[in-house]
Amino acid sequence: MSTNTKFIYPRILLKISGEVLQGVNKFGIDVNSLKKIAKEIKLVLNIGVQVGLVIGSGNLFRGSTLSNIGINRIASDHIGILSTIINSLAMHDIMQYYSIPSCVMSSIPINGMCETYNHRQAIKLLSNNYVVIFAAGIGNPLFTTDSAACLRGIEIQADIILKGTKVDGVYSKDPNKYAHATFYKKLTYEDVLKKELKVMDLSAFALARDHNLPIRVFNINKFQSLYHIITGHDEGTIITT
Ligand code: UDP
Repeated sequence: MSTNTKFIYPRILLKISGEVLQGVNKFGIDVNSLKKIAKEIKLVLNIGVQVGLVIGSGNLFRGSTLSNIGINRIASDHIGILSTIINSLAMHDIMQYYSIPSCVMSSIPINGMCETYNHRQAIKLLSNNYVVIFAAGIGNPLFTTDSAACLRGIEIQADIILKGTKVDGVYSKDPNKYAHATFYKKLTYEDVLKKELKVMDLSAFALARDHNLPIRVFNINKFQSLYHIITGHDEGTIITT
């Protein structure tokens, strides 16, 4: 499996926001986006990197959006959690299409469709070069898939959380709204908190900080960006101590 290509992170936790999966559409899953991501992951798997994957569900349902239209917040989050399983199953299928060994592990039992999360089993699969797709967030409402990414990242002893988004990294303001937003290449956990930058929700961020887990925010739509990061090139924004 591994080649002579040098990589700096032997095990990663890749978090992809649901919006990346919808491509140019406003809702749902675009199969071309899934294929693009699968190919990016395959590149790093082929050089021997172990990949844990968490997928959000902003392309389907987010709890906050549903509660804004009058659905109870807890029920809304349950719908969000189920949506992450839908995305994970779709990604799993495309990975099979590309002969990428992978397994979906859900935080809540979904008999007959995927495995239930098991820490030891996850480590075993990762060590055997399977992509482990951690579905259903942490399995509880009022959390996000960023929290799941940080939690699973710590559990599997990932070397870094790679947050793949549609933007190039962390900016002072939303770059889609403000043309003069400042781009940050490097930040400390403290900078993020002081400047109130939107990297991820606070409970997820605190978890990463408390366990000294570096976070890199990058544009997953940029061709081979994941590979570039893994092989030590500068992409996006790195957040460390
Ligand atoms: N969610 C939850 N608990 C979790 C993870 C997710 O309740 O542990 C719900 C929550 O409603 C959230 C939705 O699932 O809005 C989708 O996750 P997220 O917002 O993180 O998706 P992303 O923004 O990354 O696409």
